[in-house]
Amino acid sequence: MLRAAGYTLGALAVGAAGCSRTPSAAPGPVFTLGVASGDPATDGMVLWTRLARDPLADDGLGGMPSGPVEVQWEVATDERFGQVVQRGTQPTDAEAGYAVHVRPVGLAPGREYWYRFRVGTGPTAELSPTGRTRTAPAPGELGSLTLCATSCARYEQGLYTAYRRLAEDRPDLVVALGDYIYEYGGDEIGAPVRRVAGGETRTLADYRRRYAQYHADPDLQAAHAVAPWLVVYDDHEVADNWAGDVPDAPDPAFLQRRADALRAFYENLPLPESCRPNGPAIQLYRRLDWGSLAGLHLLDTRQYRGDQPCGDRYRSDCPERTDPARTLLGPAQEAWLLDGFRRSRARWDLLGQQVFLSQVDLTPGVERGFNPDAWDGYVGSRDRVVAGWTAAGVRNPVVLTGDVHAHWAAEVKARYDDPAAPTVGTELVTTSIASGGDGTEQRPDTAQVLAENPHVRFFNSRRGYLRTRITPESLTADFRVVEYVTRPGALVATRAGFVVEDRRPGLNRV
Ligand code: FE
Ligand code: CA
Repeated sequence: MLRAAGYTLGALAVGAAGCSRTPSAAPGPVFTLGVASGDPATDGMVLWTRLARDPLADDGLGGMPSGPVEVQWEVATDERFGQVVQRGTQPTDAEAGYAVHVRPVGLAPGREYWYRFRVGTGPTAELSPTGRTRTAPAPGELGSLTLCATSCARYEQGLYTAYRRLAEDRPDLVVALGDYIYEYGGDEIGAPVRRVAGGETRTLADYRRRYAQYHADPDLQAAHAVAPWLVVYDDHEVADNWAGDVPDAPDPAFLQRRADALRAFYENLPLPESCRPNGPAIQLYRRLDWGSLAGLHLLDTRQYRGDQPCGDRYRSDCPERTDPARTLLGPAQEAWLLDGFRRSRARWDLLGQQVFLSQVDLTPGVERGFNPDAWDGYVGSRDRVVAGWTAAGVRNPVVLTGDVHAHWAAEVKARYDDPAAPTVGTELVTTSIASGGDGTEQRPDTAQVLAENPHVRFFNSRRGYLRTRITPESLTADFRVVEYVTRPGALVATRAGFVVEDRRPGLNRV
């Protein structure tokens, strides 16, 4: 009788609240959001999971009963956990969004590991899926590295087939360059491929639920489970085109929103403790070494930038763009990056960052039009960074970029608009995982844009990811595409391959 009465009251409450969600009558399994690892060092990496029995629960807490939960974890040298080398327990609770970040230490450099989590004991214990991860090679090691880059996975615009195909490539490392989630509400586009729960994300609960919905996707889970990720955000983890304290759409409560968004960002990704936000501030930029083969400089081009020039009008031009006082990185990060160039002894220096670094005139014809949200809106910053790596004698600078929902390959020039200027670096821009839907091979103005920007060597507007194979002698870049994301099952193909040779910046078509 009590149960029946409770059920009726519950049904009435739901009816009264209108759109609120019915709590699950029978709680589901607790590991619905997969596992992930990130930021590998020589002695360990971050291991992550998040508990949720009802991922879409309104309060963002995944239908977890209130109160702490002890989560057990273990790391093994084999996929069957025959040789467990470390284990421990880590509590989580509502304050942590039922997320778990574990950082084992004392692992061996340069090798594969497997990890999993467990809740409960005995016959009712629940076991997570297994993740594969690895430690970074020891200093001095050259070896080789397969690294994939991703960006822009707008859930409602496409299935995550590209994440699945990336997992099948079994890379050593994945760099996520931003727009891992989108904040938009479910009604913002016509004919979505699938629906996001709720309206535009504004509160901590909204962002937590949005991440939970993304993490429930099996293709996304496969991509996390295959390799450690290095994650940076771009704008949509918080709000469209935010710049420092300024959102694109005026909002007096923006810093509170930013704090909530960044808290959920940290909770939901395998980020190191150093990236735990403090209110609206986060130390996102950081550096990782992969033996002596590669150094990765992960940048934050959102938090410290000045507001976009030219009224942030896409394809525009104005004198403000080239004002050397304007900054994309902020002075502290810029000094840190230039110092990193001077200290680097890596064979390859990779910049993992959000927005297009090379100049691109996007307006066909005599008129010039730039993207003021990219480095083209902060030309002084670009000049200082490129001059900085050149002066430091960085052996092989390669910029990895996201944001623009298309593959691009470009040669970074010491000066643009001067055909004789030397090529001083290489930029590889990865297309979106899902944003933009199926896409097209080319756009109507592609041929003209490429002709007017001779340092830009490749463009493709399908969905996909970038795969690189890095050895001491060369870096091979494969632009991977899937032909559709509006229905399942697309295969992946390499639409173009380029080789960058040691000490020879620039692109050689395979
Ligand atoms: Fe995007
Ligand atoms: Ca033009």
